Amino acid sequence: MVSIQQSDPEIADIIIREEARQKCQVNLIASENIVSDAVLAAQGSVLTNKYAEGYPGRRYYGGCEVVDEAEEHARSRAVELFGADHANVQAHSGTQANIAAYSALISPGDTVLAMDLAHGGHLSHGASVSLTGKVYNFHHYPVSSESELIDLDLVREMAKEVRPSLIVAGASAYPRIIDFEGFRSIADEVDARLMVDMAHIAGLVAAGVHPSPIPHADVVTTTTHKTLRGPRSGLILCRKKWRKKIDSAVFPGGQGGPLMHQVAARAVCFREALTDQFRDYSRQVVDNSIHLGQILSDGGLRLVSGGTDNHMILADLRSMDLTGDIAEAALGRAGIVVNMNMIPYDPAPPRRPSGMRIGTPTITSRGMGEEEVRRIGGMILEVLNKPDDKNNIEGIRARVREMCEGYPTRIQG
Ligand SMILES: *Cc1c(COP(=O)(O)O)cnc(C)c1O
Repeated sequence: MVSIQQSDPEIADIIIREEARQKCQVNLIASENIVSDAVLAAQGSVLTNKYAEGYPGRRYYGGCEVVDEAEEHARSRAVELFGADHANVQAHSGTQANIAAYSALISPGDTVLAMDLAHGGHLSHGASVSLTGKVYNFHHYPVSSESELIDLDLVREMAKEVRPSLIVAGASAYPRIIDFEGFRSIADEVDARLMVDMAHIAGLVAAGVHPSPIPHADVVTTTTHKTLRGPRSGLILCRKKWRKKIDSAVFPGGQGGPLMHQVAARAVCFREALTDQFRDYSRQVVDNSIHLGQILSDGGLRLVSGGTDNHMILADLRSMDLTGDIAEAALGRAGIVVNMNMIPYDPAPPRRPSGMRIGTPTITSRGMGEEEVRRIGGMILEVLNKPDDKNNIEGIRARVREMCEGYPTRIQG
């Protein structure tokens, strides 16, 4: 930071202020986390200077012999961590990974069955505003209107009707275990391929606190920056038979040179995720989420599907006569960061949805446990009960700030 402070005080100041913000707020964004100093160091390294189009041993540039080793480590650690046949560690992001996976598995115009965005799916699962929705013929399954859970009978019924070439399982806003084995049997019944996008739950899968999709899916995609607690990037895991197609769909199919500093940072992340410490961390993430859900639900907030099995809670704010935008803003003023979210069968518009999504990966990385979760749950309820009470919110903001002081945002892996 010393040199950037001298050369570019404007940007240095932004970095300092952002770190201060992260320190003094309770971050409950379910898709975020904080990386270790080792992951940060790899990302901020001179590996960023290297062009390495191609794959280890088969590059289109000279001078790749050292960075090749970083990619070999990243691939072999990913394979070990998840028990896959092959790993591609070059996709720049989760969306890039998905686009590559589609192009390896199916052809333009093919039919795909994926989860509805408004019910917890992701933009890159064929939303009309996404390239994926323009290139392929997506159909979307909802969750059950009663249980708010994925209803495999309904998925099967739709699969028999639309006859997809590919079924996609995985979600951005779904608080329950996903039955990948069940999806596989539906895919087999209609002779479709199965892709699992485990972006949100990859860390839980790595730690064994969510069932793994690897034995069931042809291809598994993920981000590495959510529960997996690595750099912002994508990862594709696949069976042997898809290796060549996946690798060429990423490069040269959809990208140029890999970001070698990010590849090295993935390697660091995978090594960290192989430790007992990471397993304990992931268990604590889920324990914290279940505990926080219980507190909020005891306080009168309805949880979509009645609770959670993973790192996130989806809350229905209509139970407190609120909308997502108002809750997000009021909690934000108190230093508690969440995001508004659609809930299944939401009658309200996306900019003023009925729900909010809350996640525990970041607070758990900072070392917060049962006691802190109790305090956070209490403060959330206080804000939601009186979202317009400025004095009360000021007081909570001070309590949040004070509580956060004891918990670092810079961590060892
Ligand atoms: C976050 C997420 C992605 C996309 O990740 P980006 O890195 O933001 O492109 C894809 N799929 C799911 C299910 C996600 O939750």
